[in-house]
Amino acid sequence: RMRNMQRAWQAWFFPDLLLFPKFESPEGRKMMEFRKSLPAFKEKQRLLQAIARNQVVVISGETGCGKTTQLPQYILESEIESGRGAFCSIICTQPRRISAMTVADRVSAERGEPLGDAIGYKVRLEGVKGKNTHLLFCTSGILLRRLLSDRNLTGITHVFVDEIHERGMNEDFLLIVLKDLLPRRRDLRLILMSATLNAELFSNYFGGAPTIHIPGFTYPVKAHFLEDLLEMTGYKLSSFNQIDDYGQDKLWKTQRQLAPRKRKNQITTLVEDALSKSSFDNYSSRARDSLACWMPDSMGFNLIEAVLCHICRKERPGAVLVFMTGWEDISCLRDQLKAHPLLGDPNRVLLLTCHGSMATSEQKLIFERPPPNVRKIVLATNMAEASITINDVVFVVDCGKAKETTYDALNNTPCLLPSWISQASAKQRRGRAGRVQPGECYHLYPKCVYEAFPEYQLPELLRTPLNSLCLQIKSLQVGNIGEFLSAALQAPEPLAVQNAIDFLKVIGALDDKENLTNLGEYLSMLPVDPKLGKMLIMGAIFQCFDPVLTIVSGLSVRDPFLLPQDKKDLAGTAKSRFSAKDYSDHMALVRAYEGWKDAEREGSAYEYCWRNFLSAQTLQAIHSLRKQFSFILKDAGLVDADASSNNKLSHNQSLVRAIICSGLYPGIASVVHRETSMSFKTMDDGQVLLYMNSVNARYETIPYPWLVFGEKVKVNTVFLRDSTGVSDSILMLFGGTLSAGMQSGHLKMLEGYIDFFMDSSLAECYLNLKKELDKLIRK
Ligand code: ADP
Ligand code: MG
Repeated sequence: RMRNMQRAWQAWFFPDLLLFPKFESPEGRKMMEFRKSLPAFKEKQRLLQAIARNQVVVISGETGCGKTTQLPQYILESEIESGRGAFCSIICTQPRRISAMTVADRVSAERGEPLGDAIGYKVRLEGVKGKNTHLLFCTSGILLRRLLSDRNLTGITHVFVDEIHERGMNEDFLLIVLKDLLPRRRDLRLILMSATLNAELFSNYFGGAPTIHIPGFTYPVKAHFLEDLLEMTGYKLSSFNQIDDYGQDKLWKTQRQLAPRKRKNQITTLVEDALSKSSFDNYSSRARDSLACWMPDSMGFNLIEAVLCHICRKERPGAVLVFMTGWEDISCLRDQLKAHPLLGDPNRVLLLTCHGSMATSEQKLIFERPPPNVRKIVLATNMAEASITINDVVFVVDCGKAKETTYDALNNTPCLLPSWISQASAKQRRGRAGRVQPGECYHLYPKCVYEAFPEYQLPELLRTPLNSLCLQIKSLQVGNIGEFLSAALQAPEPLAVQNAIDFLKVIGALDDKENLTNLGEYLSMLPVDPKLGKMLIMGAIFQCFDPVLTIVSGLSVRDPFLLPQDKKDLAGTAKSRFSAKDYSDHMALVRAYEGWKDAEREGSAYEYCWRNFLSAQTLQAIHSLRKQFSFILKDAGLVDADASSNNKLSHNQSLVRAIICSGLYPGIASVVHRETSMSFKTMDDGQVLLYMNSVNARYETIPYPWLVFGEKVKVNTVFLRDSTGVSDSILMLFGGTLSAGMQSGHLKMLEGYIDFFMDSSLAECYLNLKKELDKLIRK
């Protein structure tokens, strides 16, 4: 009776909720059939029971069996059926924003409703959600942010944490916080979902929570390694001789292991062995080295092209999924393939890409079947490894690498570089080919390399800088950061934690006693890296908001300056035209962006991008991020609604330079001039080099004693990716905390120097605004 009453109540107040799946139409019925055919459907009752009876349940199953799209829906439907629909609020986290968006889109389509009804999504700075939304897909970062403002997750009834096998930093962090929350919220249900079979690890972490495996079926997939491939495709290894210096630069990088050098030698030896044993003898040792450090550069591209031609000419129908390392090589390879007589022919090949920043229209195409006699080829990042399932894939091409951040706590250098994947990933990639019929997988590396891969990848928590994470932990007010992190599945090194705390102190987010400063509180609310957040706030306070906004958006999206393999020099020249005498990649970015806005107004944006080697897509992404950041800062009351008052000082080049310095500090290198040459040094790394696409790499001399930089990358030596020249006075005034350390005596001393060092407009501006800034930073 109780249930009937609830139902009536619900029907009265929430009539829409009862109209769940609208499957009267033929499409609706087909969709229902599809849903019922998924392996998860057979386990539905068992799953619902387990979730009803246990606070935590771990669910594992083959990718594509229906975990992400079905399980949260089962809960929603069963809650609606039992009359509790109006009270349930389900959250399902995804590691990547793009998967949260696609999945929400898919699930609402399955229910025959528009997105934003019962199903919504929320990712950083974006979302669709209505007052009737009961199932929300979001990134794990969003849930963490929500936990900051509401530690008890009031009103939430079910939390799904998806793709936990990936061991992303946010997921590992979420598990600590949720584990702590569960005793306080006895009614909350936590469901962990994982693709591979290391479910016990998570079950043990939650005191032996029950695990349920969804049995799936995949067809066998035949693995071909490089040895077989060369014969199969007739591809000549001798072309490895031509590998250029760029390829050599990007040599080995397996920092994830404790003894990287040892690993490297081990794998190199293995490759050499394999090569010398087989028919490759007659190639030079250079060719062998190149092969050992193979990556999808121009040489790798030719091999991929050869394999794709082989598939298109000789193999049965079926889509091809190519795993690449990142957006850059995907777009380079796409350009190369477009120029190919067979692969570039749209009547025979449908060439698509799948990566974090693809357009929504393209997202849909990936899942659709191409017309008969057209072969679908999808160039993807490792996103297609587990979060996105393309059903008609029969062939997989695996380059064996993925971009991952590695972090070496000892020299405190984060790197985002392609490195070899794990055996688990390679298997996962291979499995993608066997969804509808037996498949083929082409691994572009020798078998012995595969055998030397680590079994699993190291969790992200152990291989990234913890700056942002520690700031969030601080604002959660859970006490000592190190102690808190020691409760993780695998705790990070104490040195890594200390580095992060030191960093937060240096930028003024934490005070000497490790308490959050006022600035730190603002920074923990901004959805950006703390140092970029600081740059934004400084830009707002010093009234040069627009250029700073462009720089921060650019640094958090990616570099819009393209560097095509075969036109590096032209591209570099094009970029340096934006720099004039600024000695700054960041200001070049501002000019390029502003030029693009002008060109857009005149309708010549396409030509402008083409001429200047700029990516229109990236500029567009920067443009929309700009708007969102600007909205958030207005919302926080840090900038005025009136744009002109935020930009009174935007034309002041040295001020903008100073703000860049305030944000990027302590990322700083000294410029050492010798008779004819110039070199650069940082405190941590000693000698460093400039990335070839940096404008500063093109000057013979740089009239600044310092460079501040946003990112350094370690490939044998350390490279600075982007940099801006700054003077002594800027560094003294704007580097560092501008608060605690500069109080009292220190500040007085600096004020004394101002007249000496600075051009007067900057000094005046600094003094005027110092008070305002101090208000913000100090409690
Ligand atoms: P899992 O989370 O277990 O990997 P999913 O729930 O993501 O599986 O997917 C279940 C099935 O639904 C898959 O077979 C997949 O092909 C299909 N599917 C998922 N998203 C889409 C989509 N956007 N369009 C078409 N089919 C999809
Ligand atoms: Mg999934």
